[in-house]
Amino acid sequence: MNLSQQVEQHLPGQLLRQIGEIRTQAAGRGEKVYLVGGIVRDLLLGEPSLNSGLRFDLDLVIEGDAVGLAQDIAETGQAKLLTHQQFGTARLDYESFTMDMATARKETYAKPGALPAVTPGTLKDDLFRRDFSINAMAISLAADDYGHLIDPYQGRSDLEHRLIRVLHPRSFSDDPTRILRAVRYEQRLGFALEAQTARLLKRDAPVLDMISGDRIRHELELIFREDRPECAISHLAELEVLQRIDPSLTADKGMVDRFQRARQPGQPEGLPSLFFCLLVYALSISRVEQFLIRLNTPAKLAHAIRDTLRLKTELTKLESPSLKPSEIYDLLQEYDTLALEANAIASEYSTAGRHLRLFLTELRYVRPTLNGEALKRLGISSGPEMGEILRTLRKARLDGEVSTKEEEERLTIYLTACNSHKKPEPDPE
Ligand code: ATP
Repeated sequence: MNLSQQVEQHLPGQLLRQIGEIRTQAAGRGEKVYLVGGIVRDLLLGEPSLNSGLRFDLDLVIEGDAVGLAQDIAETGQAKLLTHQQFGTARLDYESFTMDMATARKETYAKPGALPAVTPGTLKDDLFRRDFSINAMAISLAADDYGHLIDPYQGRSDLEHRLIRVLHPRSFSDDPTRILRAVRYEQRLGFALEAQTARLLKRDAPVLDMISGDRIRHELELIFREDRPECAISHLAELEVLQRIDPSLTADKGMVDRFQRARQPGQPEGLPSLFFCLLVYALSISRVEQFLIRLNTPAKLAHAIRDTLRLKTELTKLESPSLKPSEIYDLLQEYDTLALEANAIASEYSTAGRHLRLFLTELRYVRPTLNGEALKRLGISSGPEMGEILRTLRKARLDGEVSTKEEEERLTIYLTACNSHKKPEPDPE
């Protein structure tokens, strides 16, 4: 099958010109270059994502020396070059796209879940180390067979039958992150797990216990970047994979609703960190600690997750419809923004949810017109008194008691007068 037309039709002009350049350089060096990975799958599917205007990330495999070739190309163009000589890989960064170039390699796994040993190999070896048949195809960019599809593991047939299939029975035990990847692609593409692949997945799910939290967290992040992450999470729960990551995690209707609401217009863009908060929302504060440890969660995200659950236990305080804006402010100002977002999503239809939204969209930005400098001009020196006055001014702004600079000044003069009145008289002696 020849895909040169699809390549020319779907890839942006600037990228095609660079591919042309790479082809010429590689031919001069006697090397072969192939387009591999997701782009080949998406070209065969005619996926609209190719035209979505997103930044292109293109994977190329070179039968030869990827680093040397990338260096030659970088000399001719406007790309920034990053090389990893020890891995035989290079990245060319252009203004609107990136090309990852890798020397064709072979991988072997000493034991289940271990990181692989890598040696140079052929294109076929390189495709064999990949996760699924639909991701294990290549398109030749060589001048004499430009556009030729190389498909040694029947990826095209699996695309037609809408199946996710591993390339060999040890695939999941070699790299159990593929379990999460399988479900992610399955849900994204609306495919099914091929029968033997589904059996292997269940058989090898326990190997997930042997891999690092960082690797699991990274795959969850990729799921959270999908259009409908709740579908993958729900299927992982059905396959009892979610519970392997943490036995307390569930994918009930509450979780699905939270995820769906997080995507509605007006909500923050599908931030992976927000989805982490929403995933663990039903857990108790003590249970969530195990999850944080298992995923080796970075401090910033761990803080947001802890804050989410801490705020959840305080929501009843926010339920009173008669709360003044300044009271809402005082209750919420110390929390991480993600914790506020997650709780606003989780309690969207309640009074607490309304108060959370009000805080997120308006109250947290309220500041008095007078700042420290302006107060100094009114004769107040920096220190605790100034802090107290600024807080009182903000409170008055929040509750609509002052709305102009003049009103703030009057209030300041009044507050200073009260303060000096309160101060003990200096001892005459
Ligand atoms: P996307 O998945 O977002 O559509 P992609 O297919 O390019 O994009 P990447 O995660 O960038 O996916 O990976 C590039 C390619 O590397 C994949 O298509 C797959 O062939 C291979 N790959 C990535 N992760 C693994 C893995 N854990 N095991 C085997 N092959 C992998």
